[in-house]
Amino acid sequence: MNRKDELAANLASVRRRISTACSAAGRDTGEITLIAVTKTFPASDVRLLADLGVTDIGENRDQEAAPKAVATADLSLTRHFVGQLQTNKCGSVATYADVVQSVDRARLVDALDRAAVRADRTIRCLVQVSLDTARGRGGVPAADAAALAGRIAAAGRLEPAGVMGVAPLGGDPVPAFELLAKVAAEVRGEFPTATAISAGMSADLDAAIRCGATHVRIGTALLGGRQPIVG
Ligand SMILES: *Cc1c(COP(=O)(O)O)cnc(C)c1O
Repeated sequence: MNRKDELAANLASVRRRISTACSAAGRDTGEITLIAVTKTFPASDVRLLADLGVTDIGENRDQEAAPKAVATADLSLTRHFVGQLQTNKCGSVATYADVVQSVDRARLVDALDRAAVRADRTIRCLVQVSLDTARGRGGVPAADAAALAGRIAAAGRLEPAGVMGVAPLGGDPVPAFELLAKVAAEVRGEFPTATAISAGMSADLDAAIRCGATHVRIGTALLGGRQPIVG
């Protein structure tokens, strides 16, 4: 099978999962945005996915995302940055990201806003909420999410667009996604434009949709297994 047929088959199967999960939850598939997480895969795959109708692309490392954004600049895609972000990378990320999903601290809000001003762009931001008691996966504690959304709202070139979370590895993701939905409602209560709930990856998109996800971030199920990143 050539790569385009392979991606087309994977995309059809992910779309079927989304539609089954939506029916089960009494939701409309139009409420769900599928983000293809293309990290570790080449720009040619981004192009094939765009040909197949994918509108949203996610990347998690600036070193990789920046050249791929240049290589696919002719495509009209919504580009999501989903990885942990260091303040010294904000200048680069602000030149191509439409959405930064991993905003998890005030210093990052300030750096991203300055970078957005320099790039003369407006960036939608999701507050990444920690759903994992194990440290190291990023995110603010649930109790601090609304305050961070407030800081985003106060920044000139950033807009609070919702929340993002990564369920803990192993075990039942539902309690984590339910916590995220609760935080999302709280944030949306204060900032009505913050409607996005980005939850669900290849392994748990079905549970995420049952728990109210509006955005699912899918890598492996669409593109196949990733080689480990070296360096
Ligand atoms: C890699 C990644 C994904 C996609 O994960 P899969 O399990 O391959 O679908 C989603 N979200 C984030 C933040 C990621 O880094």
